[in-house]
Amino acid sequence: MLTDRFGRSIEYLRLSVTDRCDLRCTYCMPKGFKGFEEPAHWLNFDEIARLVAAFARLGTSRIRLTGGEPLLRRNLAQLAARIAGTPGIRDLSLSTNATRLARHAGELKAAGVSRINVSLDSLDRACMEQITGRDSHAQIMAGLAAGKAAGFAPIKINMVAMQGVNDDEIDDMVAFCIEQGFILRLIEAMPVGDSGRNAGFLDLREVQARLQAKFDLRPQALELGGGPARYLTTPNGDANIGFITAMSQHFCATCNRVRLSVDGTLYLCLGQEEKFEFRPLLRGGASDAELEAAICQAIELKPQQHDFREQPHKVVRFMSQTGG
Ligand code: SAM
Ligand code: SF4
Repeated sequence: MLTDRFGRSIEYLRLSVTDRCDLRCTYCMPKGFKGFEEPAHWLNFDEIARLVAAFARLGTSRIRLTGGEPLLRRNLAQLAARIAGTPGIRDLSLSTNATRLARHAGELKAAGVSRINVSLDSLDRACMEQITGRDSHAQIMAGLAAGKAAGFAPIKINMVAMQGVNDDEIDDMVAFCIEQGFILRLIEAMPVGDSGRNAGFLDLREVQARLQAKFDLRPQALELGGGPARYLTTPNGDANIGFITAMSQHFCATCNRVRLSVDGTLYLCLGQEEKFEFRPLLRGGASDAELEAAICQAIELKPQQHDFREQPHKVVRFMSQTGG
């Protein structure tokens, strides 16, 4: 098992398959951004599969495909099938904005992706357009319906809750997710890049207290996916709501993950600069043993925690570049 300097087991790799996206969520990607990674620098499927296998031999068991928008990467289902078939990988999931999910849900499920997280910040068409930069509501709803029909379980909805933008819609979103059988996760905007810093931060502790009283929610002891969300559940246990409070109550002490960007850079923390470049090794003829040694060396670089509160201007890299 990979263990970092602070005794944390690193068993989860978030794998960005592209830094491009068909949306421009205000908190994520800067408007008019053009500095995407050159295709020649994208790890190809053989390179990704080799690196995933090396991580898996060292004890990594969970992989999440992310981006940018992962469904923009051509033939993603082929990559998913290779990862799902890698010895040691027991959980393959996907984060998506769902604009293209209607087209790809069936093949991704068949390839071995078992669960999905979908970004959905509003149920209102105009508000979605304001947040995502285009009229995306109908496509996303069709994608969600296709995800449900394809049998992904669970489906989690990620809502970045923002003061003065969509905070008045939180209760409607709770009701929608209960009705649809989705697990809602409310997320505090993180100050990654100027886009994240300008998002209208909302402290979720107050929201949690209010929802707890209104829906009679109780703390949920179960772990739902090994991530940082703290969950509350309805009295009959049929609906769960998670709170990802990276700002107001950070969860760095139990961080179990690292992130690989599309160009083969491993980022050890969302909120710090420590990183390790794998592309030169993969393209320079490194052996499997050398790759494994490099992964262990990289994990040693993982910092203890982010400094989002202490140094909110520190991270210039925005979420879709790291692989959120
Ligand atoms: N495009 C996919 C999607 O939107 O789900 C996957 C990549 S996206 C970067 C992954 C997650 O990061 C999304 O749930 C998004 O809401 C979240 N995210 C992006 N920027 C953020 C920020 N500044 N603070 C908090 N969450 C952010
Ligand atoms: Fe694209 Fe996801 Fe970032 Fe929105 S949050 S711009 S959908 S990568």
